[in-house]
Amino acid sequence: MSGLKMKDLRKSFGAVDVIKGVDLEIEHGEFVVFVGPSGCGKSTLLRMTAGLEDITSGELWIGDQLCNDVEPRDRGIAMVFQSYALYPHMTVAENFGFSLTLARAPKEERERKVMDAAKILQMEHLLDRKPSQLSGGQRQRVAIGRAIVRQPEVFLFDEPLSNLDAALRVDMRMELSKLHQQLGATMIYVTHDQIEAMTLADRIVVLNGGEVQQQGAPIDLYNSPANLFVAGFIGSPK
Ligand code: ADP
Ligand code: MG
Repeated sequence: MSGLKMKDLRKSFGAVDVIKGVDLEIEHGEFVVFVGPSGCGKSTLLRMTAGLEDITSGELWIGDQLCNDVEPRDRGIAMVFQSYALYPHMTVAENFGFSLTLARAPKEERERKVMDAAKILQMEHLLDRKPSQLSGGQRQRVAIGRAIVRQPEVFLFDEPLSNLDAALRVDMRMELSKLHQQLGATMIYVTHDQIEAMTLADRIVVLNGGEVQQQGAPIDLYNSPANLFVAGFIGSPK
């Protein structure tokens, strides 16, 4: 099982510096939440971790592997997107199992892993449905199921609940907490929602302008914000 280490991680798009030297150590099994305003670099940092963006400089370690040049599929990570990115023509079961099909996993193993994921997400009765026959919350659970079947060491979530209505978001937060306890995997979760961050995180990392402003347990950030930006972002009720 893997923790994660970022050493002076930087990313530029052309002449624009977007991630400006991020140092971070994440313990195995930790639930870390990146928060910060729109455009501060949360998705970019997550995509660099997943291998979907090149790293301009610095080091990314996942477990004991330096991952700067490692292919996404060999990093032991799975990413869940805000947009779900489901395959519309496939059933829930086929969506769950598609990455295993691509990896040429034997049918028996595929079926077992799909059923395990369905059980964890309580979706056994929905395996034959197409995404268009599901609610928003169910679709998001399919996206999470697709990550679970791959049994990653590290889960990356990019604002996975922001397309859901408020009541459903609260339910899904509970489910994600349970999932974290059940799987014991490392999770990095991006949101711009302070409440989501406060309730889910073992540790919150506050980003602004591509830099870490402060990191710590939710209660510590709330009680002792390092600066006005953190105070405004974490402390003040809206
Ligand atoms: P967040 O997820 O925190 O809203 P992003 O990581 O998506 O922020 O973006 C951070 C900054 O990087 C933004 O200014 C965005 O416009 C810029 N950016 C992101 N992706 C690209 C890209 N492919 N090319 C150029 N600029 C980008
Ligand atoms: Mg984003």
